Amino acid sequence: MNDTTTMPNTARESRAPSALELVRANCRAIPLYAPHGGPVEVDLTDNTNLWGTPPAAERVIREFSSVSRYPTTYAFELKEALAGYLGTTVDGVVTGCGSDQVLDCAIRAFAGAGDLLAHPNPSFVMVPLFARLNALETIGIPLSPEGDMDADRFVESGARVIFLCSPNNPTGGAAARAAIEHVVEHSRGLVIIDEAYAEFAAMTSVDLTTRSDRVLVVRTLSKAFGMAGLRVGYGAGAPDLVQQVERARGPYTVNSIAERAATAAVIEDEKWMRDHVAEAIAVREWLAAELREISLVPLRSDANFIFLPIDGACDIARRMLERGVAVRAFAGLPVYGDAMRITVGPRPMMERALEALKEAIA
Ligand SMILES: *Cc1c(COP(=O)(O)O)cnc(C)c1O
Repeated sequence: MNDTTTMPNTARESRAPSALELVRANCRAIPLYAPHGGPVEVDLTDNTNLWGTPPAAERVIREFSSVSRYPTTYAFELKEALAGYLGTTVDGVVTGCGSDQVLDCAIRAFAGAGDLLAHPNPSFVMVPLFARLNALETIGIPLSPEGDMDADRFVESGARVIFLCSPNNPTGGAAARAAIEHVVEHSRGLVIIDEAYAEFAAMTSVDLTTRSDRVLVVRTLSKAFGMAGLRVGYGAGAPDLVQQVERARGPYTVNSIAERAATAAVIEDEKWMRDHVAEAIAVREWLAAELREISLVPLRSDANFIFLPIDGACDIARRMLERGVAVRAFAGLPVYGDAMRITVGPRPMMERALEALKEAIA
């Protein structure tokens, strides 16, 4: 695919090209991200931690005063804290302004114009956008109706970058360990495993990064750790690999407030995080049972949200919004059709959501 728009011949034409004529075609085709309208009483759209901010991060932010100097170049102290948390070495960790940035930089470091990126379909919507923005081609590999991935088809794609997401957003299930190992063993490209929701699942692939230097596990502090507003994500991989991602990322992209607050929270608030994860899992199982009680069929979830295939999801979501509850609705997804994704938060919020859903489908 040709990414560059034909440059108007300014020598013959009197005017310079407009911004719209100059912009790369791949960039012009990217839609702006638009989750939902304004503020809403119960917002269950973005899978953040609805119990709040970790106390150590709150303390650091309150006490922070000086921002006249740059942050550390590559967030070394934060990487040390994250290496301790993951049980890896510090040279096997790279940070970024959200895991979005780590994903974008990994794609950019390892693939270029015309290369292929394979991703589960449906999966995290930002990844095909980052791929296209970096002039890659993409192939979506359909999940099974139960939410499982077809490891062979990922291998057969021959993609230079294979993106896996476990637990997968929006379907919620973690990939089988054997399927992930199969992809890592038999593929030849970079394998990115997005573990934004790993804290809610009983498994991780971080250990695979010591077995293959083509595996990058990407994590975030935006979900279980409750710091989405700080924009801190990270990747774990072989030192040779993460160094390339860090090169593509550049210095100073984690700001100094975020670096200090995140470092404090990772060191001091792991128990805070684990307690809320346990609560989220308990509430999730309660909500799934309530949904089955009214003959709905949510997919098995290993994350802090529930994926519910349901006809007319967008209309239903709009009626829920009128009742003060926002959920993420999808129309005509491959495999699942219409569906909604409901973030799991404290039980009273879920009771309101369930009531709104029941009224909306009545
Ligand atoms: C939320 C989410 C992210 C983005 O996390 P940030 O660190 O906030 O950029 C990445 N991957 C998946 C699958 C997500 O759901």
